[in-house]
Amino acid sequence: MAPIRPVQNIVIVGAGIAGIACALALSRELSPFVPGLKITVFERHDVLSTSGGAINLTPVAQRHLAQLGVLDELNRMGAEGGADVDAIQLFSMRSGRPIGSINFTDSNGKGFGGYKGRRVMRIALSIAMLAVAERTKNVEIIFGKKVVGGKEFEDKAVLLFQDGSEAVADLVIGCDGVHSAVRTKFVDIDRPAEYTGLSFLQATIDAKSISSPVHFRSSSLNISRHGSLLASYCDRDREQIFVAAVVPFVQEALTHYRLVPGQDWATKERIRSGLREELKKRFGKCFIPCIKEMMDSKADWMLYPVYQVRPGGRWCMNRVILLGDAAHAMPPRDESAAYALDDAILFSRILARYRSEPLTEAFDAYETLRRKTIDHAFKESRRMWERNRDMGLIEGRLKELTLYLHIKSRATQREAAWEFDATKIPLPTPATCEEVVSLKTILSEKTL
Ligand SMILES: Cc1cc2nc3c(=O)[nH]c(=O)nc-3n(C[C@H](O)[C@H](O)[C@H](O)COP(=O)(O)OP(=O)(O)OC[C@H]3O[C@@H](n4cnc5c(N)ncnc54)[C@H](O)[C@@H]3O)c2cc1C
Repeated sequence: MAPIRPVQNIVIVGAGIAGIACALALSRELSPFVPGLKITVFERHDVLSTSGGAINLTPVAQRHLAQLGVLDELNRMGAEGGADVDAIQLFSMRSGRPIGSINFTDSNGKGFGGYKGRRVMRIALSIAMLAVAERTKNVEIIFGKKVVGGKEFEDKAVLLFQDGSEAVADLVIGCDGVHSAVRTKFVDIDRPAEYTGLSFLQATIDAKSISSPVHFRSSSLNISRHGSLLASYCDRDREQIFVAAVVPFVQEALTHYRLVPGQDWATKERIRSGLREELKKRFGKCFIPCIKEMMDSKADWMLYPVYQVRPGGRWCMNRVILLGDAAHAMPPRDESAAYALDDAILFSRILARYRSEPLTEAFDAYETLRRKTIDHAFKESRRMWERNRDMGLIEGRLKELTLYLHIKSRATQREAAWEFDATKIPLPTPATCEEVVSLKTILSEKTL
């Protein structure tokens, strides 16, 4: 049998967290072995998207961003590079009392494996990732290319773009998020994204515009029986507070509240005041003065419906694989971005190790390593999000109590997970290597 040539021409769809992380990790892992390596990322937007608000990065996410060179880039951005988060403090909106906290530091005030949490605007993270990608060997990012379909052949995969053009590759990696075209057009057409029944209502508020004392150090989750509300600084100078409410919203209401380019002024104003009313109705009676003030403010709230992708479906074909939200979008939690980064690093390491094997073996090894972790994480996210549906008075009080117990009981498990390092965990060995190893062992035993 002819020796298998390592993949040389790789196409990644989507320049989000998974896509750029994958390009960086693949360049590092494969460059030493693959002369002429070419990694092209196709992104549907013409420029980086400025929407999406702020994102929380856990210690694992920060470690992996540091390994990819992105954390240094974020730090160079100064205040815009995000706010350090030592803990997310939880409060009852009914009484204003603290419920507990999710700590990103140990008892000595040190981060896990050296890293705490960080809340950063999504656009700042994208700019930092893009800056690193631009100076990375073998990587090119092409904007304004929306994938609409694809085909797979024995020796190549072909992507079809909305503008009528095509791209041919040895390997296609779908990192195109929850509504992934790579998934829904050819890897797993029966697995569309599903609306969870919950949405984020989010805005960024000027900290100076709030006159009441701020009740949290860096980040807070404020709990009520009508949903929860996150309030967190998102820049190092603490000039901006990112506020996001998780609220149940029926699917039919979504179009009524959606802001899209091209809408006239009156429509935009109707949507904005409708969202403000929705927030006031739910959280207006909050006992915490600064939250009440935020609810009364004229902030520009935006609605982000939360979608998920049912677990258990297909992640790959023969030359195409899905990573990040495209494979397993779960109701978002602080760890979601970390899962996308883990995927990128683990898959790149496996591909380098299996470079002389058929791609399908690399895919199998990756799935074996990853599937159980992802299924478990998905279940945990669902359980967490269940707490955000509307509740009665007594159930709401029970929720506060059980939340305290839940956070406390999961502390050890959570902290152990934050020590995870995708660059270090042992990988499976290709079957042919095992054969070579055992042949060597037999030969050496014979000579002894
Ligand atoms: C409201 C909200 C808040 C969240 N908050 C947090 C948080 O605080 N912490 C956390 O860890 N996670 C959070 N998450 C989850 C986190 O954002 C995702 O898990 C993460 O962004 C997944 O990265 P990804 O690269 O797989 O997908 P994405 O970030 O969605 O990137 C996909 C990319 O593919 C592009 N694309 C899509 N379709 C095509 C196409 N057809 N052709 C070409 N390109 C395409 C998109 O434009 C985009 O750039 C949140 C999610 C939401 C919705």
